[in-house]
Amino acid sequence: VTESSDDAIVQGTSNDAAVSRESAARLGYMADRYIHNFVRQPQRRPPLINRGTYCRFHGIQSALRQFTESEAEPKQVVVLGAGLDTAYFILKSEGLLNNVRYFETDFEEITAKKASTVYRKRELKALLPPDIKVARGGAELHSPSYNLLAGDLRAFEAQVVPKLMERGFQTDVPTLFISECVLIYLDPKYSDRILDWATDNVLNCGIITYEQILPGDRFGKMMIENLRARGLELRGLHAHPTLESMEKRFSGRGWQFSKAVDLVDYHDQCVEKNELDRIARIEFLDEWEEFTLLAQHYAFTFAYRTSSLPFSAMHIV
Ligand code: SAM
Repeated sequence: VTESSDDAIVQGTSNDAAVSRESAARLGYMADRYIHNFVRQPQRRPPLINRGTYCRFHGIQSALRQFTESEAEPKQVVVLGAGLDTAYFILKSEGLLNNVRYFETDFEEITAKKASTVYRKRELKALLPPDIKVARGGAELHSPSYNLLAGDLRAFEAQVVPKLMERGFQTDVPTLFISECVLIYLDPKYSDRILDWATDNVLNCGIITYEQILPGDRFGKMMIENLRARGLELRGLHAHPTLESMEKRFSGRGWQFSKAVDLVDYHDQCVEKNELDRIARIEFLDEWEEFTLLAQHYAFTFAYRTSSLPFSAMHIV
């Protein structure tokens, strides 16, 4: 198997994520008015997947909202492997991105696809800043406040950092990095370089990740095998298999705060009771055991480098 056909399979996961998001959004689990624009063939996912997708959305949104609503100004968001993620459009439509520079990065194949959809769909285009420019033959979008940038995260310093800098990224502005099922696909030698770069260069940064954990038990092995059968390899999983090792990834780099929580605890402790009641009325979940097994194998990690604002005011648990 060549590297580029492997890459095409990894790129395809952006579509899976969007299909799951659209399924849950259409049923009313969460308010994402934009995701349907990115999904050609909607599919209804089973209740346990919809509930997991809802929790995933809840966690990333909650971090983004705490960050963007905090007092410190200006701020930056860098979404690593943004895929067809709609968070920019959701937050922008609510007026939450004033004084936030928002960067999305992914492989060129994906950013080109995203840029073209955004341009074709009026409700998305309307949320782009008025000074937006299409760049690199349609593969990128540039503006002072929103940038969609093409690059391989395995060559972060050579391909992504120069573009961030060129587009106005500032190393002294509070910056939230997001990795939602992205770093896990990279060999740790590459994802470590991204974290090292942030540690060495961005004075006031934080990160929220959502990734798979626990490769060793029966369910973990099955999860790995299922993905492998589709040509997907969770290359980062064995290097950071547990909540403790996820936390150590950041504390070991001297970051001041690092907390990992699996999706079972996130579901039980962080999703508001009235929200759990609401989603229970959308679809009946009778596979609680399966949901728990699945949710044990996903975790959020929230970490920050220095305890200054806005990070010191944020929490995930
Ligand atoms: N974060 C998005 C979400 O949650 O909807 C997309 C998640 S999808 C599972 C993983 C994304 O990471 C894909 O869009 C893929 O193209 C991107 N990705 C994986 N490896 C990458 C790399 N080496 N360089 C750039 N993007 C990469």
